[in-house]
Amino acid sequence: MTLRIQRLCALFIFALTASALAQDDGPRMVPAPDRGADEGEGPFSRLIIRGATLIDGTGAPPIGPVDIVIENNVIVDVDSVGYPGLEIEEDERPTDATREIDAHGQYVMPGIIDMHTHTGGATKAPAAEYTYKLWMGHGITAVRGVPSSAVDFSLSEKARSARNEIVAPRIFSYHRPGSGDAWEDRKILTADDAREWVRYIADEGADGLKLGSYRPVIMEALLDEAQQLGLGSTAHLGQRGVAQMNAQDAARLGLGTLTHYYGLFESMYEDHDVQPWPVDMNYNNEQHRFGQVARQWNLIAGRGSEKWNALLDEFTELGFTLDPTFGIYSAGRDVSRMRNADWHKEYTLPTQWDFFTPNRESHGAYWFYWTTADEVAWKNFYKVWMQFVNDYKNRGGRVTVGSDSGFIYQLYGFGTILEMEMLQEAGFHPLEVIRAATMHGAEALYEPKGREPDIGVIRPGMKADLLVVNENPLENLKVLYGTGAVRLNDESGEPERTFGIRYTIKDGIIYDAKQLLADVRQMVEEQKAERGELVEY
Ligand SMILES: [Zn+2]
Repeated sequence: MTLRIQRLCALFIFALTASALAQDDGPRMVPAPDRGADEGEGPFSRLIIRGATLIDGTGAPPIGPVDIVIENNVIVDVDSVGYPGLEIEEDERPTDATREIDAHGQYVMPGIIDMHTHTGGATKAPAAEYTYKLWMGHGITAVRGVPSSAVDFSLSEKARSARNEIVAPRIFSYHRPGSGDAWEDRKILTADDAREWVRYIADEGADGLKLGSYRPVIMEALLDEAQQLGLGSTAHLGQRGVAQMNAQDAARLGLGTLTHYYGLFESMYEDHDVQPWPVDMNYNNEQHRFGQVARQWNLIAGRGSEKWNALLDEFTELGFTLDPTFGIYSAGRDVSRMRNADWHKEYTLPTQWDFFTPNRESHGAYWFYWTTADEVAWKNFYKVWMQFVNDYKNRGGRVTVGSDSGFIYQLYGFGTILEMEMLQEAGFHPLEVIRAATMHGAEALYEPKGREPDIGVIRPGMKADLLVVNENPLENLKVLYGTGAVRLNDESGEPERTFGIRYTIKDGIIYDAKQLLADVRQMVEEQKAERGELVEY
């Protein structure tokens, strides 16, 4: 199906949804169109990827050349087939391929798992296809939607993705307490309500809970019921709730993952219990909200202090997961860089750009008057925050990759690769970064279900979610960006862009990563033709 026809189908679905819900005329999300005949090849009865250097996701050193054999959607063999510069004879290698990929000189790694995602948004990027293709074009084969969108929409898209009816990563659907049609006119007021809602959302087919700030008795009920039902949990402990529930309190109640950092510093304050906000602080003023939070970096004693070590020990014992989302706040330390990122011109929809543009209403558009002092506070904050996350990793704690893209100048897909770069900045070796982005993400998703993951590592028996990358991502994570890394070609004397991800393979189906990104550029072109270029400022 051509992109134009898909777009018409999407519009048709949109029109149907819109008329069915005519009483609410606001913009709404558009489900991804059905996968076209030319979108993705396979699965194959026997796909062999030949001669690649393998990064398996566990933290093991790369090894190559290997031949990877995939039957339908399962990896059945990973064979070492020689030594660098010396490969074994053809007839000793796996045979009978129904499809082969020649990956000599290239790298294979597991598909990336982004643990904090939202599928666009009704006003900023309503077509789910746009977000999905940016993700898949960046090698993201699984996402934790927190939430992806409204409950019905998320669960229906999750099921369609699981059946490979659409071009999309696997979707793990986490929802906010009180969400869902049956609860539209209800509120969670008591612990019993909390438990009832968790049972409801489990029945609906959710994978877990995206928590915010709740008083302790509600939090306890939500987490306890979720654990009994095998649902996962991740919390953004909003600043309005951390005085009652910091990260340490939540971890003790059985929270699975802390996303962002809210409640972390508050667990280690030296001279305060509540953050000493300016007296004119107003949480609905987002420059206050995002400017002040960085002013915590010097409220704790810091690396090596008693509270620092005790918190790391406790988190490690509890098997707690940190999903820092460093990238989503990075404009705070250098707004000019993120506003002018290489990719906005070609990949950012004008409607998404409008959402990023300073204004009082859009979440994360808080650049009312951002100052050098604000950026310095954020630079200091990052130093301390990154030390904590790196120390946690060094003690054996689990750290995952989550982007939260779609806010604060961060674009889907690109933001996930930025997050990986920032883990390296925090002190992770690139192999530790890739493990965070693959095996550790999978573990955090499957642990609550009481099952071993079948994604996140390349070894026989695992689902075939993997990437074929032209250059070595350990040498330079930037090669994973859709816009590549800049390199001087000494033969031509001209700068060029690295090629990056060739194929994103999800569930045994091979997607041409460059084609996915070309589709996105076309969607951006089409919207620009309708309503003009990005508004510069
Ligand atoms: Zn989020």
